[in-house]
Amino acid sequence: MRQAMLQRYSLEMDSGVILRQQRLSQRDGLIVTLTVNGFTGQGEIAPLPSFSEETLAQAQAQAIEVLSHWQETGQWPDDWDALYPSVAFGLSMAQMELDGALQPEGNYACAPLCSGDPDVLIARLGQTGQRVAKMKVGLYEAIRDGMIANLMLEAVPELQLRMDANRAWLPAKAAQFAKYIAPELRARIDFIEEPCRTPEQSLAFAEIHGIAIAWDESVREPNFTVQANPWVRAIIIKPTLIGSVSRVISLIQQAHTAGMQAVLSASLESSLGLTQLARLAAQFTPMTVPGLDTLQLFRQQLGRAWPESSLPLQDLSLQEVIWQR
Ligand SMILES: [Mg+2]
Repeated sequence: MRQAMLQRYSLEMDSGVILRQQRLSQRDGLIVTLTVNGFTGQGEIAPLPSFSEETLAQAQAQAIEVLSHWQETGQWPDDWDALYPSVAFGLSMAQMELDGALQPEGNYACAPLCSGDPDVLIARLGQTGQRVAKMKVGLYEAIRDGMIANLMLEAVPELQLRMDANRAWLPAKAAQFAKYIAPELRARIDFIEEPCRTPEQSLAFAEIHGIAIAWDESVREPNFTVQANPWVRAIIIKPTLIGSVSRVISLIQQAHTAGMQAVLSASLESSLGLTQLARLAAQFTPMTVPGLDTLQLFRQQLGRAWPESSLPLQDLSLQEVIWQR
C-alpha cells in the first residue's frame, strides 16, 4: 500500500534577506511524504528564487506527475537528471528516508561568519569546538577584505578561513586582495569560492598568489566535471540546485577521489530539509564542516527541529495539503 502527499509551506524570513538583489520576505516550498506499509519518508522541494531555474509552480506540477506514477506503480523515473533539480532532490531524499538509508545522526557544526573582530570570532569558535570560519568577500573594497582576512589569520593561530567571493573580482582586484595577505598565512586560507569572473581567471589567481580556491557556481554549470588540481581544494554542493541524492553522492565521491573536500551547503531549506542535509553531511562528508548555517535567516522552524535552535517550531500537520493519493 503506497501513499503520497504533498504539502505546501510558507515561512516568514528575517527582514533583509536579499538574493541577487531580490528581497525574500517569505520562503515557500513543498514537503513530500511517502508512506509504504506504515513506513514513511519525507523530502523537501524548495526551488530557490533567483538561483533555481524552475519556479515553485513548475516544481509542484512535475512533483505531482512523478508522484502519481510512483503511487500507481512504485516506479521512479529512469533518469532523475531529467527532472528539475529541486524535485529530484526532494523526491529521492524522501525515498532514501523511506529505505532507512539516511543515517539518524547529523553534522550540525557550522563555520561561524567572521565579523572582522577577532575577539568575537574566538568566542564563537570556542563554542563550536572547531577552527573553520567563513568570510564574505568581494562586496566592498578588495584591499579592506585582504586586510581583515590577514588580521583574522594573524590573531587566531589555528584558524582555517573559508571565503566566498561569488565571482566578484577582476584579476586586478583579486591581486589587490592577495597583496594584503602575508605569504606565510596564505596556506591557512582553506579556500576562496570563485574569486574571479571566470573559472580560468580564478585558477590563474590561485596559482599566482598561492591561495586555494573552491568551485561553487561552476559546479552547477552544464558541462562541469571534477578535475584534480592542486589549487582547487573543494567543491560546494547545494543539493536543491544540483538534483537527486545519487547525483550528489556521485559528486562527493568524485571530489574525494580527486583529493578535494566536498562541502554540502544549504539553499535556504526549512529546518526539515536542513536537518536532512546535516545527516547527509555526517554520512558522506564526515571530515568536513558543511555550509548549513542558514536557519538564523528564518523566523520559524518546520516539522523537525535543528538542535539547539531557539526558533519556534511549526507543526507540519498544520500545513496545507495540496495533493494526496
Ligand atoms: Mg559561493
